[in-house]
Amino acid sequence: MVNMPSKKKTSINQACTLLAQGDLVVMPTETVYGLAADALNGHAVAKIYELKKRPQFNPLIIHVSDYVQAQQWAYFTKVAEILATYFWHTQPSPLTLVLNKKPTNLSSLVTAGLETVAIRVPHHPVALDLLKAYGKPLAAPSANRSLHISPTTTEAVHQSLGPRTPFILDGGPCQVGLESTILDLSGDVPVLLRPGGTPVEMLEEILGHAIHQEVGTTAIKAPGMMKRHYAPQLPLRINCLHAEPGEAFLGFGHNDQPAHLNLSKTGDLKEAAANLFSMLNELDKPGLFKGIAVMPIPLKGLGAALNDRLQRAASSES
Ligand code: AMP
Ligand code: MG
Repeated sequence: MVNMPSKKKTSINQACTLLAQGDLVVMPTETVYGLAADALNGHAVAKIYELKKRPQFNPLIIHVSDYVQAQQWAYFTKVAEILATYFWHTQPSPLTLVLNKKPTNLSSLVTAGLETVAIRVPHHPVALDLLKAYGKPLAAPSANRSLHISPTTTEAVHQSLGPRTPFILDGGPCQVGLESTILDLSGDVPVLLRPGGTPVEMLEEILGHAIHQEVGTTAIKAPGMMKRHYAPQLPLRINCLHAEPGEAFLGFGHNDQPAHLNLSKTGDLKEAAANLFSMLNELDKPGLFKGIAVMPIPLKGLGAALNDRLQRAASSES
């Protein structure tokens, strides 16, 4: 920070101010441009889904400035420590690790209600300056509309996000151009979840053994392997105007029958998204309730992703 030219410092400060007030910022990374939000602020994270027009709440990767910071948010096994220090610091290469999450105030929308968290240290001077200056983790998927290709220049970001493009930190063209490789270390054996900028052979060389690759649904489910989707223990019903006796009632907007919790009393979809996983979790008490009934949520905007997640939770398929 001390030696940063003043123009650069001003834009980093501006980005920090925006993030702190819950706004999004586009940040360059070595892989692709990311659409970043404060990972502790559920409302800010909801804006990512809204702007990208993502029809689903997939868990997001959190970005931190170094391995020491990363340890605040996840449990690192010996293997995780070796890979993180090597690929994040010694020989930087884009690698995201999925690890068991520590109990923290990370927004549950970031992890889509899972007990694991995807975390990485980007290798880009501007991203690192921002992360160091901000001091908190940033949730950041690629800065493009859903189904568009990932942007590697600021022009491509503008093209994809249009007039609603947030403040951009310009870091020039991204060097790698491919997303990070994602390795799941939350279970008994490492599993490759997404091939990316770090070849799997490089990981195998450091690990000293072959890595399971998750291919479609035919993946070998290793014992203790992570859960892919949040699913409540209790049966869940959606589009309910009333709860049955014994059911927990999760409201949205105005409701005639008193609700145990309300995703957003004013019917604000961003607020509902920010509350979704934590409220479901709070009501998911088999000793207390026999099920959860959720009020209807409109399908517009973020409502599509909210309904998608609730439908999955309602059918035990997830
Ligand atoms: P993107 O949104 O393009 O940054 O991609 C994020 C990727 O990380 C998606 O493929 C997610 O499914 C994956 N991911 C993030 N968090 C987790 C997690 N806790 N468990 C499994 N996969 C994750
Ligand atoms: Mg993407």
